[in-house]
Amino acid sequence: MLRFMLRSLSALLIFAFLACTANHATAATVTNLQMMRHPDGMTRLVLDIDNAVAFRSFALNNPLRMVIDLPRMTWRAPMNKGDRNGFVKSYRTGIYKKDTLRLVLDLGRPVVVAQQQRVAAPNGRGWQYIFDLKPVDPITFQRSLQQIKADSNTATASTAPTDRSYVVTPPKPQAPTQTASVVIKKPLIIIDPGHGGVDPGALAANRAYEKHITLAVGKELARLLQASGRYRVKMTRDRDVYIKLPERVRIARAAGGDLFISLHADTIGRSNVSGCSVYTLSDTASDAETAKLAERENAVDSLVNVNVGHVDADVADILIDLVTRDTMNQSRVLAETVVTTFKGSGIRTLPQRPHRSAGFAVLKAPDIPSILIEMGFLSNKVEADQLSSDPYRKKLANAILRVIDRYFNETSKTAAY
Ligand code: ZN
Repeated sequence: MLRFMLRSLSALLIFAFLACTANHATAATVTNLQMMRHPDGMTRLVLDIDNAVAFRSFALNNPLRMVIDLPRMTWRAPMNKGDRNGFVKSYRTGIYKKDTLRLVLDLGRPVVVAQQQRVAAPNGRGWQYIFDLKPVDPITFQRSLQQIKADSNTATASTAPTDRSYVVTPPKPQAPTQTASVVIKKPLIIIDPGHGGVDPGALAANRAYEKHITLAVGKELARLLQASGRYRVKMTRDRDVYIKLPERVRIARAAGGDLFISLHADTIGRSNVSGCSVYTLSDTASDAETAKLAERENAVDSLVNVNVGHVDADVADILIDLVTRDTMNQSRVLAETVVTTFKGSGIRTLPQRPHRSAGFAVLKAPDIPSILIEMGFLSNKVEADQLSSDPYRKKLANAILRVIDRYFNETSKTAAY
């Protein structure tokens, strides 16, 4: 009897396993992709799929993209260039997280999905997935970044298009031109340990140098990021060398960084002041103290006779650029995430406005969200000792890893490639 039950159980398990795997590898094919001009000035994107599947769409920034996720399936639709409206410059597909077929639209301007729906194909074979892309201003696009439009409704939806006036014509048989396979890149995190070499940075109450503390935390963070398997890492320096501030930005941009995190530790005249703070770039300083801090951090290069003035001139024009504004918004999101995550991790932050802004030279990559973290005050004996200890450095690095995880989850940026 027991043997019989076991056999039934194993048969059941095998059945469940097969049903599961069948679910993962959806037996579906994208047979066509069409883009047409919508009478309302929108771009209508139509995917023909021979099966009813769940799907979702969302926007990504830096650069502007729209993503449509489908269960992993075969792609037999043509790969061609954008639409006549110029909203979509090009598109590509790739496999994301093993079970998702991801369609990425590279956008020529900010758009949102005004409407998405699945309708029965006019020829009675399969389904059409319709996405109406509507141009919007950058602020509306920025807001849309947080939103994922999903349709998890599976097989049975047969809603007619809400507007029959532009029912899609049956797909013309088209030879598959390309089956794309894109290797998905993990986000690249640039870690920038402040100071180094001839520039020791601040001197701690316990005689430790800022340059050694930033490098130690930076290395620990790099190790954690790599061990997570979710990120790639590049350090602007991984040893005790001097690197100019503009060079740090250049390293980040040349590597194609997705985030830039500069690590520092401050000093101040009053030894009782303590707490972490985080800084983003702005053309005017949020307050006089931060303006002075930016001056101190920027002055580093003048120690070794490097003119940082030209960096300001370089970015003066870029500062008003849309891409930079988007980057600055993303940087602010990242900085706010530092504040909330640190507070939740038991890491002391400045009691008043722990997130501030000023013209930090090292945060000036126009296309990479960048923050500078002052990990505490070396002028404070307790914090100087904490920052000199391995367990506290690990705790800090762990908190920064959580910040990065939260940032990418919230902006769906793990999806970026
Ligand atoms: Zn510093």
